[in-house]
Amino acid sequence: MTIRNILDSKKVLFSFEIFPPKKQANFDNVISCTKELSALEPDFMSITYGAGGTTKVNTVEIAQQIIQMGTPALAHLTCVGNTKETIKSTIKEMKTAGIENVLALRGDYPQDFEGEKATADGLDHASDLVPLLKEEGLCVGGACYPECHPESANRIDDIENLKHKVDAGVDFLTTQMFFDNNMLYSYLYRLQSKGIHLPVLAGIMPITNSSQVARMVKLSSAYIPEKLLAICDRFENNPAAMRQAGIAYATDQIIDLISNGIRGIHIYSMNKPDVTKDIIANVNEIIKAVNE
Ligand code: FAD
Repeated sequence: MTIRNILDSKKVLFSFEIFPPKKQANFDNVISCTKELSALEPDFMSITYGAGGTTKVNTVEIAQQIIQMGTPALAHLTCVGNTKETIKSTIKEMKTAGIENVLALRGDYPQDFEGEKATADGLDHASDLVPLLKEEGLCVGGACYPECHPESANRIDDIENLKHKVDAGVDFLTTQMFFDNNMLYSYLYRLQSKGIHLPVLAGIMPITNSSQVARMVKLSSAYIPEKLLAICDRFENNPAAMRQAGIAYATDQIIDLISNGIRGIHIYSMNKPDVTKDIIANVNEIIKAVNE
């Protein structure tokens, strides 16, 4: 099932993200998390891709298993450091595995990357990857950044650049995580004013331990509202309380987003089915109501 079709048939969709194991020994653990997440009946699950293809085999393998579990899968694919030939052969592998949806990404080089860094064959941006996926008949998503991509000079340039990806034919966009919904609402106005009307899935990262905040700021440069900082300060030494407060915060964000007409919620579940399970339990009646 393509995400385009799901968007056509549902008012609000939910998706979860998992990442493949860094060490092969952890593969079975990831599959068991995946099974627990799939049992929550998300509209689809997405599987990240290590930049430079470091998790390529597992991304495809996990996506294939998710499809066999009865859940549509969205495989991520990054083009940084890859040749057109390698990318085309990965796309073929994805299609052979039954994958119908791909998130087209540029990717970043990992800090410890030791391979050839030169870009090849003009695959410099996610927008260069989109035509290769579209010509294979795939449903294609792209990433977007409500608080601006860190490399963009400013918010205007960021949306101008996003337009390349949109014009290349992406079917939907998924946002970088954000912790203040107003960031998304003002971003959506800016997208509309530039003629970008694609469905945007809102990326929500539940913060269930206080050290996560520093890591997330480093990874995404996201603004952390006072309310979330206060939660982290107050409960950093009490894991159970921090977990409960973090789940409540993410739940609150999701309810506000759905109330304001957002089409999709993408939970960065970080291979933590228990947290995702609690969030879904908090909003299950809301999900039912909006899709009636
Ligand atoms: P692009 O769209 O290529 O944009 C990168 C930068 O280049 C931006 O500043 C943009 O404004 C600029 N730009 C874009 N097009 C042009 C152009 N034509 N001319 C000039 N400038 C341009 N990383 C992984 O390694 N694996 C993953 O699985 C993964 N999943 C992700 C999922 C989501 C939802 C998000 C939001 C990010 C994900 N990332 C992942 C991180 C992502 O790879 C990085 O944020 C990366 O820096 C940018 O990727 P992009 O696809 O947005 O790049």
